[in-house]
Amino acid sequence: MLGTGGPLLELSGVRAAYDQITVLHGVDLTVDAGQVVALLGPNGAGKTTTLKVAAGVHPPSGGRLLLGGRDVSGARAGDLARAGVCLIPEGRGVFPNLSVRDNLWMMTFTGRTRGEIEDAAYSRFPVLGDRRTQAAGTLSGGEQQMLALARGLTTDPAVLLLDELSMGLAPLVVADLYERVVQIAREGVAVLVVEQFAAAVLKIADHAAVLARGRIPWQGHPDSSLHAELSSYYLGSAP
Ligand code: ATP
Repeated sequence: MLGTGGPLLELSGVRAAYDQITVLHGVDLTVDAGQVVALLGPNGAGKTTTLKVAAGVHPPSGGRLLLGGRDVSGARAGDLARAGVCLIPEGRGVFPNLSVRDNLWMMTFTGRTRGEIEDAAYSRFPVLGDRRTQAAGTLSGGEQQMLALARGLTTDPAVLLLDELSMGLAPLVVADLYERVVQIAREGVAVLVVEQFAAAVLKIADHAAVLARGRIPWQGHPDSSLHAELSSYYLGSAP
C-alpha cells in the first residue's frame, strides 16, 4: 500500500537523458492526493519525458522518484503501474478499430469483470454507453479522451499522469474534460497534467509548474503572475 501523508508522487532532482544528451536537469515536483498539478512549458522542454520518468517508462539518470514516500527510482513501468501509477499518453492510446466495449474489455487483466468495467465507465461517461458498439476511431476527439480516461481508471490509479489532454480538441470540450479530471482528483487521485497551451488547465489546477529546457524555473499557485512567467518562457525572453 502507498504511505499516507505527504505527497503521493514526488520527483526530486530528477535528471533524464536520451543517449548522452541530458534533457531533464534536476526536476523537483510533488503531487498530493486530491490535487491537480499542471506542468506547462514550450515544445521540447521535457514535459513528456518527466511523465515517462514518473511512470517508469524512461529511466531517470539521477535524482529520486518517490511514490507514497517510498523510493521507487529505477522501478519498471509494470511495477509502477501495479503500484498505482497510470499514464495516459498523448494521442490517447485507444485502439481505433475496436469498439468502445472491446477497448474496455481489454482491461479485464486488472481483475475486474467486463460488467464492472463497463458499469464504471458508462456511469462516469454516459456517452460511452451510447456508443458502446461503435469503433473507437469513429468517436469524437473528446469521447476518445473519455474512453482513454475510463480505461485508465479501471486500474484504480493512485497517480494519474495525463499528457496533452487538450490536443486537437475544441475549448469547450477541453473545459468539460478538465471538470471531469477535477472530479477524479477529488476522489483522492494525485493528478499530474502536462500541457503546452495553458489556459484551460490553469482554470482548474491547484498548483502549476513551468518547465523550460529541462528545469523548473517557476512553480506556485496558478494566479495572474504565472501568465507573465509563461509568456516569457514561451517567447524565449527568459534568461
Ligand atoms: P513536446 O510538447 O514537443 O512533446 P516536451 O516538453 O514534452 O515537448 P519531450 O518530448 O520530453 O518534451 O522532449 C524533451 C527533449 O528530449 C527534446 O529535445 C526532444 O527532442 C528529446 N527527446 C524526446 N524523446 C526522445 C527520444 N526518444 N530520443 C531522443 N531524444 C528525445
